[in-house]
Amino acid sequence: MKVLKFGGTSMANADSLRQVRDIVAADSLARFVVVSAPGKRAAGDTKVTDLLYDCYRTRRAGGDFEKAFARVEKRFTDIVDALGCDVDLQPYFKQIAYDIDGGASEDYAASRGEYLSAIVMAAYLGYTFIDAKDIVKFDDDGAFDAELTNELTARVLRRVGKGAVIPGFYGQTHGGMIKTFSRGGSDVTGAIVARAVGASVYENWTDVDGFMTCDPRIVENPRVIEMLTYRELRELSYMGANVLHPESIFPVRKSDIPIRVRNTFRPEAPGTMIVATNKFLSGEYTRRASTITGIAGKKNFTAVHLEKQMMNNECGFGRRVLSVLERHNISFEHMPSGIDTLTVIFEAASESVTNEILEELRLDCRPDRIELVRNLSLIAVVGHGMRSKKGTAMRIFQGLYKAGVNIRMIDQGSSEYNVIIAVEDADYENAIRALYAEFEEHEE
Ligand code: ASP
Repeated sequence: MKVLKFGGTSMANADSLRQVRDIVAADSLARFVVVSAPGKRAAGDTKVTDLLYDCYRTRRAGGDFEKAFARVEKRFTDIVDALGCDVDLQPYFKQIAYDIDGGASEDYAASRGEYLSAIVMAAYLGYTFIDAKDIVKFDDDGAFDAELTNELTARVLRRVGKGAVIPGFYGQTHGGMIKTFSRGGSDVTGAIVARAVGASVYENWTDVDGFMTCDPRIVENPRVIEMLTYRELRELSYMGANVLHPESIFPVRKSDIPIRVRNTFRPEAPGTMIVATNKFLSGEYTRRASTITGIAGKKNFTAVHLEKQMMNNECGFGRRVLSVLERHNISFEHMPSGIDTLTVIFEAASESVTNEILEELRLDCRPDRIELVRNLSLIAVVGHGMRSKKGTAMRIFQGLYKAGVNIRMIDQGSSEYNVIIAVEDADYENAIRALYAEFEEHEE
C-alpha cells in the first residue's frame, strides 16, 4: 500500500486536481493521500498559504483581512466549480473568517489552506477526510511528538475504508492549539503517514522530475538522480536542494520506507528513488555507478579565523568559542582547525550580532589574532561512490582550479561520502558549473 503526497502546484487549479485524480485512480495501491494548499498557478501568482499569512497579519495590524480572505475563497470555489465537486465550502469559509477575526493564531490561519484542500480532494476522490489535528501531535512547547503521532495515525487510519485524504503541514498541541511544521512541511506529514500505515513506498508528487545532480538555475538541464540514499538526501537537502523538506526522511527512516519523488505533470518520468542507506550499502538496491551523486550549496556564510600560540595545549578553547555562538543562538556549520588556529563557519548574522560575537571571542578566548571573512558559500559534493574511487579530491580541486575558483576551506566528512568546500560568494555559480562539468560531463 502506498502514501501519495501532492504538493502545492499539483493542488493549484482544477486541471492539476484532475491529474491528481487520474494518478490516484490508476494506482490500486494508492490508499492514503496527503495534500498541500493550492500553490502558484503561474509565475507571479500567490500561494494560498501566503494569502492566509497575509490575512493573519492584516487582522493583527487592525486592518481589513476580508479582501485577502476573499482571494482564498475564490481559489477554492474556482476549483470546486470547475470540477463540479459535490461539496459546500461556505460553512468552512465562514468558520475560518470568524476564527481569524476572533484572533486565532498565525499557525491556525496558515494551516487552513491544507485543511480546505484536503476537504475538496476527499470529496473529489470519494475518500474520507481525516483532520491532521486528530493524528499529528506536538507538545505544548511546540516540539513534534513523533511516537504519539505514530500511534494515533496508525489507529485512526486503520479504520478508514476505501481511502483517506489528510491535510499536510499541521497538527495540534496537547493543549489544543493548531501548530504547523516549517514551510513546505506537508512533505513531513506524508512521511509520518507512510510510517504509521507501514507503506511500501512514500510517493511525493511535485512539479519536477526528481532531484537533479545540481541546481537547474545554475546548470541547464542537469541529470535527474535516479537513486539517492537517505544520507545523501539529508546532505543535499540540508545544503539547499529543496525538492523535499529536509526533515521528511526522519519518520520513514525508522522503517526503511523508500521515498519516490515524482512529477504530477509528467507521470511517465521515473523520478528519484530515495532508499535506506544500509540497504543500498548492502547491495539490496543498485544504481548506475558514478563517483558523485549530487552537488548542492548555499551562499552567505561567515568565517571567524582565530590564532593563538599553544592553542593545541589549551583545554576548552573550542568550547569557549562555541559557547559564544551558543549565547547568540547560532549553530556552527564547520570548524576546521590547525595546531594553533581554529576557524568557525556559521550562517551570516546581522552586523551588530557579528560585532558582539567578535568582541566576546576576544574577551573569552584571548586570541593573538582574529579575522572575519564574510560572503562565503559552502558547496557539498555528495556521493557514496567517492569512498572507493581514487582521485575524487584531485578532480574537485582540478575542476575548481581550471575555472579559476579559489578554495577557502575544505572539509571531508569522516564517512567519506561528502566533501564540503567553501568559496567566495562571487565564485559560487562558477564553482557549481565547474564541478558539474568535471563529474557529469566527463564521468567515465
Ligand atoms: N502550504 C505550506 C507552504 O506553502 C506547506 C506545504 O506546502 O508543504 O509552505
